[in-house]
Parts: sequence; structure tokens; C-alpha cells
Amino acid sequence: MLTGSTIVLASFAYVGLLFAIAYYGDKRADAGRSIIANPYIYALSLAVYCTSWTFYGSVGRAATSGIGFLPIYLGPTLMAALWWYVMLKIIRISKANRITSIADFIASRYGKSHMLGGLVTIIAVIGVVPYIALQLKAISTSFSIILKYPEVVMPDKAGAPLFLGDNTFYIAMLLAAFTILFGTRHLDATERHEGLVAAIAFESVVKLLAFMAVGLFVTFGMYGGFTDIFDRATEIPHLTALLMLGGESGNYTTWASLTFLSMLAIMFLPRQFQVAVVENVDERHLNKAIWLFPLYLLAINVFVLPIALGGLMHFPNGGVDADTFVLTLPMAQQQPLLALLAFIGGLSAATGMVIVETIALSTMACNDLVMPVLLRMKWLRLNEQPDLSRLLLGIRRGAIVVILVLGYIYFYLAGEAYALVSIGLISFSAVAQFGPAIIGGIFWKGGTRTGAAWGLSAGFLVWLYTLLLPSFAKSGWLPITFLSQGMFGIDLLKPQQLFGLHGLDDITHCLFWSMLANIGCYAGISLLQRSSAAEHSQATLFVDVLKQSSAAAGSRFWRGSASVDDLLALLSRFLGPERARDAFTVYAGSRGGKTLQALAADADLVHYAESLLAGTIGSASARAMIASVVREEPLGIDEVMTIIDEASQVLAYSRQLEQKSHELESATNELRSANQRLQELDRLKDDFISTVTHELRTPLTSIRAFSEILNDNPQLDPAQRSKFLGIVIKESERLTRLINQVLDLAKIESGSAEWHSGDIDMREVLEDSVTAVSQIFRDQNVMLNINVPEALPLIAADRDRLMQVMLNLLSNAAKFCERPDGRVNVTLAQEDGTLRVDVADNGIGISPADQEIIFDKFRQVGDTLTQKPKGSGLGLAISREIISHFGGRLWVTSAVGTGSTFSFTLPIKAGSKFQVSNQSAKSKPGRIST
Ligand code: ADP
Repeated sequence: MLTGSTIVLASFAYVGLLFAIAYYGDKRADAGRSIIANPYIYALSLAVYCTSWTFYGSVGRAATSGIGFLPIYLGPTLMAALWWYVMLKIIRISKANRITSIADFIASRYGKSHMLGGLVTIIAVIGVVPYIALQLKAISTSFSIILKYPEVVMPDKAGAPLFLGDNTFYIAMLLAAFTILFGTRHLDATERHEGLVAAIAFESVVKLLAFMAVGLFVTFGMYGGFTDIFDRATEIPHLTALLMLGGESGNYTTWASLTFLSMLAIMFLPRQFQVAVVENVDERHLNKAIWLFPLYLLAINVFVLPIALGGLMHFPNGGVDADTFVLTLPMAQQQPLLALLAFIGGLSAATGMVIVETIALSTMACNDLVMPVLLRMKWLRLNEQPDLSRLLLGIRRGAIVVILVLGYIYFYLAGEAYALVSIGLISFSAVAQFGPAIIGGIFWKGGTRTGAAWGLSAGFLVWLYTLLLPSFAKSGWLPITFLSQGMFGIDLLKPQQLFGLHGLDDITHCLFWSMLANIGCYAGISLLQRSSAAEHSQATLFVDVLKQSSAAAGSRFWRGSASVDDLLALLSRFLGPERARDAFTVYAGSRGGKTLQALAADADLVHYAESLLAGTIGSASARAMIASVVREEPLGIDEVMTIIDEASQVLAYSRQLEQKSHELESATNELRSANQRLQELDRLKDDFISTVTHELRTPLTSIRAFSEILNDNPQLDPAQRSKFLGIVIKESERLTRLINQVLDLAKIESGSAEWHSGDIDMREVLEDSVTAVSQIFRDQNVMLNINVPEALPLIAADRDRLMQVMLNLLSNAAKFCERPDGRVNVTLAQEDGTLRVDVADNGIGISPADQEIIFDKFRQVGDTLTQKPKGSGLGLAISREIISHFGGRLWVTSAVGTGSTFSFTLPIKAGSKFQVSNQSAKSKPGRIST
């Protein structure tokens, strides 16, 4: 029942279904209702990672090395954990620069270099060819096997004719045709293929379901579940080894290197870059893919070991290739439908890979290899062609055919020598060479074009020598002595034991040497070099992509002049006139609905045109094309640096602003406290005024009262009359004194007082004031002692003001010395460059609490209502102002009941001679008394 025609029919029906899905997907995309705009489709499309290597090869690998098949899935799982940063950055960069392939990415990063783009393309094509061969091998093998249903016979490849006599060749050509139909029906500026992505996602579902169906059938249909299979396997000695780490399943070095390799492969395989980056419609899809994709990998791996063990137990004599167990087990169990499903699943896995991979490679080959060369051949006059879009499509289609033919040739030459997995690992090792240039390129601004070129070349050559050539040697297409004795028989050059490095498997060995050469050259040369302006600007755009706000950042690095018509004409040639006009109209619309005519060919438009072109012919060619129609004024490194500096200046400016606002804040604080002080002063002023008026009212009241008495009683006797008049006079005097003092203090405080500074001999001041107060002392019956040294230096001060201070202190001393043996000592002395005056009494004293407040205005100690001392309370305040005006200090030391000492100091006039008094007799200590 499972005849050849049924199988072929089913296969074509399946591919037809894929086309239908792709067609529907494209239609929906054109209508603006994308079916792939969801994270699940995105994650499923990433599963294009799982090819027939996974579908057939994992079981084969597990049958020989147990869980050694796992690192290939561990790596991507680990890498997915870093996607939110690394992949996000790559996607952003690619979107901003319209990057359409990995070659374009590297070329663009290192200054839009044709040379690098071409190099990457060559490495990618040669490196991936074995991987495509792997798919061809899987399809052709599985096809041959299922054709023989229900017999299980391994196909005999020996002596098969090449090309037209070999059904594998037809398979390759059919795949080429599919790919051309899928991927190059028309040209798209963004290189996005929504329909294709939908079909790939569908294929991922099919291959997963098919594999799980076989897995369930083997585990639960043929055996009694997981435990049953594993239990039975442990009874067979050589199977037990498969279930243990180490030994057959590979040592830790192998595990580590395979994990590392597959971490790089999931990022840098051209088809992974295509689905993950180029076909990405929304970078938020990444967030879900980070866990959905590893989940898919887990699901497709669950049944690998059971199928492998089941196969080994079912075909114990080794006559059936373990790579075919997924297909041969259902066949052996007479399950035609399941076998067909398995075949379709394998076909799904293989076609999905081949289609996406060749589309990615053909885009690269066209944009980064063929077009740059053609454009350089001036005699082709490509510049004058009105529409190049057909040529571009032709080149891509040709490239697809060439790549599949190359895959076929590799399959023919080397395919038989290796198991599926080993072929795949050769390709993994090749694309791993992109790692340093890309990872370095997006995180390190210092990486240069020359460094990247040398690194890539060196790594690629090592790969060629240690992996690709040996694969030919093992297949007999190169002398086997190349492997066993090294090139030219030189032992150190043995390709798989280079420079005598023993003990590593060939993949780890290649990885070690190629990475050493690659990273060494890349980093070493980059460090030795200074990058050019173009490289520098691209490096900044790439490395800082997450910091830039708009995709238009690129246009900042361009300056020149162009015409809209020239740009339009250029674009028309590559995109076709209609598409070009549409694109410009869209652009004009985004610029506030301008008409095409009103568009200015500014840096933004030039950048826009370039990025449109880049989508079609690659960034390096686009750059060259744009350069042909615009007059560009190249930016020097200095200018690029200036542009970059601007950004840092903006930063610095905002920092300045911040500082300014800090200053403002502290100024505000100062202002606030000044204001508070002002309010305080205002309050003090109010207090002062109310105190002054209060002080004035007292004498005024008594003057008025006594005047009225005198006025109302003209017959008052003369004695009474003169007594009352005396009071009036005394109170008037007190009033005058008070007003004078208030005015005086106000003047001093406001700074408008007049000061007559002169050389003063303090002894004279003292003598004059003693004379002035002698009457008071006599009235109070207080003894006054004066201690004055023989010679004293002069001081610079106002004589009258010092008199005022002395009079105040002396009269206070006399006033508050109300006791029979009252005594006041005045001492003049020289102390530390100052002149010191002490007026000490043995009067009532001042309590510590009052000692400071007596210097305030209107402050008198004691209950001022009942026993108000004579005086205004302004004397000490004025005295302190005077002394401090001359740079001195006035203070009091006192104890209640024993007396007070008022002291002040005044600075001695610099260079003043000692004055020896000629009136020394007068100033001798003595007693002034009544
Ligand atoms: P007044 O003109 O009232 O004396 P002052 O400013 O000269 O004003 O003195 C303020 C207050 O300081 C006095 O009222 C008194 O209470 C106190 N005081 C000043 N000198 C002495 C002193 N030698 N002994 C005790 N108290 C004093």
C-alpha cells in the first residue's frame, strides 16, 4: 500500500500545502494583517534550527554516544538566556541599518566594507555547504528506505552514478525550485518573507508532531513505557555505557566545546540570522521566544534516547543505520501511516532548513559578492540600466541553484564518510568564525576592519585545514597520508593534531586553533590600529545602538548635497520605478505630508534612500551607489568625534544644569534664612520702638503731671514750686539724654555715626572720666582706686567715644555699689598686644543668666516695674558697639553679692612708642572720696 507513487504524491501534497500557507501569509502581509506578528510563530520559526540532523541524527548520535547528543541543544538554551541583550542589540542594529544578512551585518559594522562582506559570504557558503549536503543525504536516504517498504534495507550507495543518474541530484534540484518559488518571487526592500516564515513555523509543528508520534509509538507501543525501555537496556552491557556520562558519551571537553559551538551556531548560522533577525517583525517577540524556543528543543529531545535504545534492541546486529531508526522502526512494525508521517517529518525538517538557508545565502551572495563585482565592471554599464530588479532576482536564483549543486557535490564526495551529526558540526565550526567579529563588533568600538578581516580569514583557513580537508581525505578524495602524516609529511602539520596538540576530538581541536587564530588576529590587529572615520562612525552606531533613540541616527554622519530626482532615479533602477516612487511618497508623507516635489534631498532622505537600497543590494553596494549620485563631503575623524562629543556635551550640559539647580537651591535657602533674619530684625525693631516710646513716656508723664500742678496752682508756695520745677528739669534732662542715646545707638548701628580717630593715650581718657564722675562717687560715698602702669603704648580710637564708654562703666559701678564700704578699682594694663581696662566694683553683682542680656538694648536687670534702676538700659549696648568698632571686646565677669568687673580690650597701635606720662603724680593710685 505504501507505493513509490503514494510517497511522491504525499511529498508533493505536503509541499503544496506549504505553498498554500506561504501564499496566504504573503497575501495577509500585503493586506497589512500579518499572520506572523505573534511570538509563537516567531519561536516556531526559530525551530528551523532543528533539521534532519535533529530528526534523524540525534537518534544516531544517541545510539553511539548516549546523552552526547545533548550539548547541541544545551548551547542554544544557554544562549537564549542571553538573547534579551545580545539578540536584542543585533535586531535593533539590523532594523536601524536595514541589514539583511550576516555578511551585510559584518560589512556594515566595519565601515560598509565590500571586502568583508564578500569574505563573510564565501565563508558562509563554503561553511554551510556540508550542512546542506547533510539534508540531501537525509532526504535521499529516507526516501530510498521508505520506497522499499515493508522491507528494511539500507540503501547501497557504492558506485552510484553522479548527477543525472542519482535521485539525490533531482532532490537537490527540486529543493532549488521550491526555494526559488518560496523566496525569490519578487524583490523586497526589507528582505522579509512573511509567507515563508509562516510555512517554516508550520513545518516546525509537523516535524515535532511526527517525531513525538514515533517516540510515543516506540516507547508505549513497542515497549512498556520509559522505565521498561531503560530497564531492558541496562540488561545489555554495551547499552548501559550509553546511559552514563563520560566514556562513549564524550568527555567534558567535548561537551564544553559542543555547547560553545552551538551557542554560536544558534546566533550565526545564516538561516538563524534570517529568521531571528531579518524576519523579526517585533522585537518584543524575543521575550517569549527566550523560553518558548528552549521548550521546543526540550520537547523534540524527550524521545531521542528511547528511540535510540529501542532501535538498538530491535536491530541488534547493527545492520540498520542508527540515523534511520525514526523511520525504520515504524516500518519494521508494519506501520505504513506512521512511517509516512516520519518521512514527512524528516522532509519537513530538511526542506525547512534548505529553503531558509539557501535564501539567506543567496541574498548574501547576490548583495555582498556578485553585485559589488558587477557594479565595479564599468563596461557592463549597469549604471545606465533603467531597471535592475530583474537582474538581482536572476542572480539570486542562480545563487540558489549553485549552492544546492555545491551541497550535492559535497554530499557525493564526503557524505558517506560521516554520520549526519558530524557533517553538521563541520558547518557549526565554520559559522562560529563569525562570533568574534560580530560579538566584538557590537560590544567593542575598537574592533577594526583589518582586524576583522584577518581574524575571519585566519579562523576560516584553520577550519578549512583541520576540518574540511580531512573530511575529503576520509572519503578518499585526498590522500589519506594527509591525515596520518601531515602536509608534506611534516608531523607538526597533521591537520587533526596541529602543532602536536593531541587528545582532543577533531571538533574541539578545530575550535581551539581556529578561535585562537581568529580572536588573536582580530583583537591583536584592532589594538594596533587606528580606525578610519567611516569605521568609527559605524562602530559607534552599532555599539551604542541601545542608547540611540531613532533609526535616523545614521544620517548624522553624512554631509553633502544631492538631488531628489537623482535619488529617485537610482532607486528606480534597483527597486523598479513604482516601488521607488511609493517609497518616496511614504517618506514624504512622514515629513508632514509634503509632495514629492517639495522634498529636500537632505541627509535624512539620502540615508533613507541608502537604507532602502541596502535592503536590496547590501549596505556596501548601496553606499557605493549612493555615492555615485550625491556629492559627498566625507567626514573627517575629527568631525565624527565632534558629533560624538556633542552627545557627551549634552550630557555635560545637563550635569551643569543640575549643578545650577543645586546652586539655586542653596541660594534660595540663604534667601530664606536672610528673610527669616529680616523678619526677626523687623520684630526687634518693633520691640525697640515700643520700648523707646515706653521709655519716653515715663519722663514725659511726670513732666506733664508736675507742669499741670504748677499751672493749676498759681498760689503754690515757692519751696514747693522750685522742687516741682526741679523735677521737671531733671526729667527733661533724662528725656534728652534718652533721646540722645537712642539716636546715638541708631547712628552707630546703621553705620552713619561719625568717628574721629586719633592717637589716644588711655591714661588721659581715664583721668578725664574720673574727674567727670568724681561727684557721683562722692555722692554715693564710693572709694575709687586707679592702677596705671608707668608707661603705656598709644591706641587708635575716638577720644570722646572712649570717654563715653568709661563714663558709662564708672557711673554703673558707682550706681550699683550701694553699700557702706563701696569700692571701685580701675586697672589699666597691657596684655597680648592689647590694652586692657578693668572696672571692678564690690557691688550687688550680676547673675550669670543676666550677664549677657545686660548688653542688649533697654535691658536692665531686676524687676523693672517695681525697682527700676536709674538709667536707660542703653549704656552697655552703646559701649559694646564702640569697643567693637575699634576692634576690641567688652565683657563682664561677676558674682552675685560680691561685685562685677567690666573689662574691655583695645588693640595697640602698631609701632606705637610707649608714652611716659608727665602727669604721673596724678595717676598714681589714690582715693577719691568726699
Ligand atoms: P543703665 O543706663 O540702665 O545703667 P546700662 O546698659 O549701662 O544701662 O546697664 C544695663 C544694666 O546692667 C543695668 O540696669 C544693671 O542692671 C546692669 N549693670 C550694669 N553695670 C552693673 C554693675 N557694675 N553691677 C551690677 N549691675 C550692673
